Amino acid sequence: MSTSGENKNQPTRKRPLTEIDRPTEIMCTVVAIDHTNLCYRVCSVCERTLPENSAVCCRHCNFSNSFNPSSSGSKRLFRVLMSIATDTKVFVVIMFDRAARVLFGCSADEFFNFAKTHPFAATTACKALEGEMLTVTLSKPKNGNAQHLRVISVVPMRTGFEPAIETLRELYRVRRVS
Ligand SMILES: [Zn+2]
Repeated sequence: MSTSGENKNQPTRKRPLTEIDRPTEIMCTVVAIDHTNLCYRVCSVCERTLPENSAVCCRHCNFSNSFNPSSSGSKRLFRVLMSIATDTKVFVVIMFDRAARVLFGCSADEFFNFAKTHPFAATTACKALEGEMLTVTLSKPKNGNAQHLRVISVVPMRTGFEPAIETLRELYRVRRVS
């Protein structure tokens, strides 16, 4: 987690999308999910963000895998932009790993590996989640510069809701058989 002090200077803080001061629970429908950028790489020790396309391991905690370059010094976490509709408006929220796992049904690493062998998995997963009714708890980001409300918990409303990875597995299993 980043602990950079970006809060210090905020002379003209933008008006938030909605006036939410405390975590607020709302019912909403998933309008769309940005499938192009579902997860990011972090150091597996301290969870600081690492550059996407590099073999560099974390400089901060000096985690070194130079003796065994193939061992994983990094892992992936979900960071998902999702636009949701309430009865009055449509807006974009950001959902991090813990909440996103509820909708995707697996870890970001598992999803990433699945998507490597199934090129349209990310698009399909996001399409599959569109229209789902959710109860989400939203909070204002602690970082005053962040532009989206943050989903701190999510509960699917539909009986028989399937996480995206289950939908994908079924879809690809069916295709393989036929
Ligand atoms: Zn680290």
